Amino acid sequence: MTISLDDPKRLVGLRDQAHQVAMNMLRPISRTYDRAEHDYPQELDLLAAMIDGLSASGASNGAGAAGVKRDDREDDGRVRNGANLASVLGIAEMCWGDVGLLLSLPRQGLGNSAIASVGTPEQQERFGHLWASMAITEPDTGSDSARIRTTAVRDGEEYVLNGEKIFVTAGERSEAVVVWATLDKELGRPAIKSFVVPKGTPGLTVERLERKLGIKASDTATIRLENCRVPADNLLGSAEIDHGQGFAGAMATFDNTRPLVAAMAVGCAKAALDLTRDLLARAGVSVDYDRPAVGQSAAAAKLLQMEADWEAARLLMLQAAWLADNRRPNATEASMAKAKAGRMASDVTLSCVELCGSVGYGEGELLEKWARDSKILDIFEGTQQIQQLIIARRVLGLSSAELR
Ligand SMILES: Cc1cc2nc3c(=O)[nH]c(=O)nc-3n(C[C@H](O)[C@H](O)[C@H](O)COP(=O)(O)OP(=O)(O)OC[C@H]3O[C@@H](n4cnc5c(N)ncnc54)[C@H](O)[C@@H]3O)c2cc1C
Repeated sequence: MTISLDDPKRLVGLRDQAHQVAMNMLRPISRTYDRAEHDYPQELDLLAAMIDGLSASGASNGAGAAGVKRDDREDDGRVRNGANLASVLGIAEMCWGDVGLLLSLPRQGLGNSAIASVGTPEQQERFGHLWASMAITEPDTGSDSARIRTTAVRDGEEYVLNGEKIFVTAGERSEAVVVWATLDKELGRPAIKSFVVPKGTPGLTVERLERKLGIKASDTATIRLENCRVPADNLLGSAEIDHGQGFAGAMATFDNTRPLVAAMAVGCAKAALDLTRDLLARAGVSVDYDRPAVGQSAAAAKLLQMEADWEAARLLMLQAAWLADNRRPNATEASMAKAKAGRMASDVTLSCVELCGSVGYGEGELLEKWARDSKILDIFEGTQQIQQLIIARRVLGLSSAELR
């Protein structure tokens, strides 16, 4: 089989469309909402309406997280470039515009990915139109999500949720929150399920917003659940506690969201590389792509090394999405893509600041902002260290109890 390293032809139109939107709609307001943390970027309502229109007409899968869905078609052995590839390509372009604004796009939340990947067709129909955030992290539980303490207790035809969730992206602006909670703390991982809690449900309160280093356009909220009742069929997927399955149900979400975060990192790093290349050219530094880096100026060699690192991350991102499109297991590749791209984006954006000196550090350009924005991409949806742990477990065939 030949491997094509180009973006699939079928998706080039979508990718270019997302790039235009990023350039003409996100970039112009990028600095404004970096400074006005917690102000709602109203310009995004128009953009969301456009994306809804394109999705309804079948012209696009959407440019954000909601685009990732499992393909329900029978496996006919044909190779496909589908919704997952479209999503990572679209997201990378949008994040070339602005990561924080992409995370604030109505109806494109990480909770939408959870609904798309774990929800039944009926649940996708019922909740798919809502803007959903995702609430896993708690004050005592970040990386080790198996230690979640938020409880879900069955009471007749309802579940009663109690607990506190922190650092919920789009937690204030979203229309529903996908809450991870345990049906029984004693039963560990298999008892953890996700529940769709629409905003306005009594017992759910948004308590406060965080001030942050980067992605300031994105709201990050603390959410309290106090005797919060939801219909029993708001539990996403199966209510059965399957001991053989471990974390599998809820974890399937990560197989879809980690390539998306990798895409955010690829897009943000590309923005920094493109601008740095321009700034270096203006300063008289030329980069020769036909000669070895060692024979060129230090600045050119550094740029070439960063571009190679970026390309490696991009290929891992495409692989993880492609596997999902073709109904093949992608958990290891999703973690690899996230680990590589998260670290690459942090390194590249900061190195671009360094290469461009005072121009890189000042607010006249967006390089310093991208260095701040990129850091979160190596933290949320599983930190760098956690991705490496997951990859090591899978490569070595060890369980989470055997390798901590
Ligand atoms: C801006 C922002 C947005 C976020 N959005 C969301 C969201 O939408 N939904 C949500 O649920 N959460 C969200 N989070 C939370 C995020 O997912 C967690 O911060 C992350 O999982 C890490 O958890 P922690 O902060 O508790 O760090 P900890 O788990 O306490 O980890 C601290 C450090 O120790 C390392 N570490 C931990 N365990 C190990 C180990 N076994 N081996 C080696 N190193 C280890 C970590 O890698 C990290 O470097 C967000 C966070 C931020 C900052």
